[in-house]
Amino acid sequence: MTRAKVQVREVGLRDGLQMVPDIVPTEVKLEWLRAEAALGVGAFDITSFVSKSRMPQFADAEEMVQACLAMPGVQASVLTLNARGAERALEAGARRLVYVLSASAAHSQGNAGRDTEAALAEFGQVVRMAREAGPSRPVHLEAGIATAFGCTLEGPVDPERVSRLAARLAELGADEIMLADTVGYAQPRQVQALFRSVRRQIGALPLGGHFHDTRGLALANVVAALDEGVTKFDAALGGLGGCPFAPGASGNVAMEDLVYLLESMGYATRVDLAALLELRQGLAAWLPGVDLHGAIARAGLPKGFVRQAA
Ligand code: ZN
Repeated sequence: MTRAKVQVREVGLRDGLQMVPDIVPTEVKLEWLRAEAALGVGAFDITSFVSKSRMPQFADAEEMVQACLAMPGVQASVLTLNARGAERALEAGARRLVYVLSASAAHSQGNAGRDTEAALAEFGQVVRMAREAGPSRPVHLEAGIATAFGCTLEGPVDPERVSRLAARLAELGADEIMLADTVGYAQPRQVQALFRSVRRQIGALPLGGHFHDTRGLALANVVAALDEGVTKFDAALGGLGGCPFAPGASGNVAMEDLVYLLESMGYATRVDLAALLELRQGLAAWLPGVDLHGAIARAGLPKGFVRQAA
């Protein structure tokens, strides 16, 4: 009963590792990436082009891009918060950029040091830079709206503001929009309403969801987004990631739980879930002392679980 194809993207190497205090060697990151790609995950957020002194975990951003360019079949995206980061990413040869800006003014100041309007203007600059990279080397530009459902600093975020922001990003030339529940504030009805109103603003542009499981609602939010026709979701193996404002809380929705949800609902992810669960054990060895989360790893797959035909 295959109903639809969906795409899952592993963001543990970027969103997950930004909360891990020890610097993970490039070779380990690549070993993880290759292993997860081999079992069917086709898209990865591989690094972040932010200040190396502020985020030493991503000091190897250029090397990560170079290594991924040589991997056929792997869609590797990199995060940038400003034109400087985008410039570095393009120089390194990155073909997929995720430009993140915050819907919340306070989070925008804290995360990127400027207000949302300034971030939007800088996105226009990034679009021009990416287009100048030339038609022979097309660059895919995704715009990620962080704190789209709520903000630790401001509390509720006005959904009208998020919809308008999405419309502006589309006008400026985004190839894709992603709504992110950065700090786990979203609930399913809110997800349904916001995806619906953003869809009205951006027409047929691809739209993705990025949910954190801080308060246990990530999978419910995924289902709400699926019901609105969203087919691209971010997740992190072992539920890596987190929020500095919510110590002990789980991070991104766990990749293995997301794949289980999707496959059991009839969506083909192409991911070998049994192999993914084994890889998760490897992750625990690569990242000693880091808390991993997720229900499927604890409980195992139920008897009779069948993977969807891709
Ligand atoms: Zn995140």
